[in-house]
Amino acid sequence: MIGILGASQYESVLETQNERTVVTTRFGDVPVLKGEIEGREIAYIRRFGWENNLASDVVNHAANALAFRSLGVRRVITMNGFGGVSQEVQVNDLVIYNDYIRMVERSPTTIFVGEPRWPRAHMKEPFCPEVRDALAEASRENSGRRVIDRAVNICVQGPHDETPAEIEAYRRLGADIICTTVYPEVVYFRELEMCFAGICWVCDMAGEDDERDRVMISPEELAPIMRAAVAAIPDTARCACQSTWAGNEEKLPAWYREMR
Ligand SMILES: [Zn+2]
Repeated sequence: MIGILGASQYESVLETQNERTVVTTRFGDVPVLKGEIEGREIAYIRRFGWENNLASDVVNHAANALAFRSLGVRRVITMNGFGGVSQEVQVNDLVIYNDYIRMVERSPTTIFVGEPRWPRAHMKEPFCPEVRDALAEASRENSGRRVIDRAVNICVQGPHDETPAEIEAYRRLGADIICTTVYPEVVYFRELEMCFAGICWVCDMAGEDDERDRVMISPEELAPIMRAAVAAIPDTARCACQSTWAGNEEKLPAWYREMR
């Protein structure tokens, strides 16, 4: 099963919508829409809550990640509008980022919080190369927008905007785009041995005010991209995302060993 995280208005990327259910996790309850794209089972979580009323800095990342895992999801795609930081990106670009910088204090920093000890997840390749390839190719084939298939995404606290000095600092650190959402969920997905990647449309340039501010993508434009991407994701994962704990299984907390 493939998981998709997005705002409520993008649920229409699903070709069929079968059932709405609530998944109970140790971090809270999560409403999930089950459906299909290209004949593949999809679980869709409204990232900003069922009523679209959560700010990005209070989203329950841990409950969302665990809800997906308990449903049997092993690959996750997140769809977001993010800000541009570097000279390399422009408003309206589609960006399939490959790395991130954490510039945020948000806890827990591990899905295994509360355990007496937990193993350390490797973050050498934080976003799944197979899912990224599928998203990049699907974007090129199904969109007239420029597609950037490598970028560094800096995750900040929000919800307020950044100062000019902060934006310049992030640029010098090597950030291309800026968000408030991908951390710590990127860590949870790695700890839960799931593939994770994102497609983002650059909706504004950080620190710039102009008439292009918050240029979003329409569900009609996003749907064919997502459908092609889902169809292109290989059935069998050849990436390393789903074997985070190979050889270290005995170090895992009991509740997760049972879930695997
Ligand atoms: Zn993967």
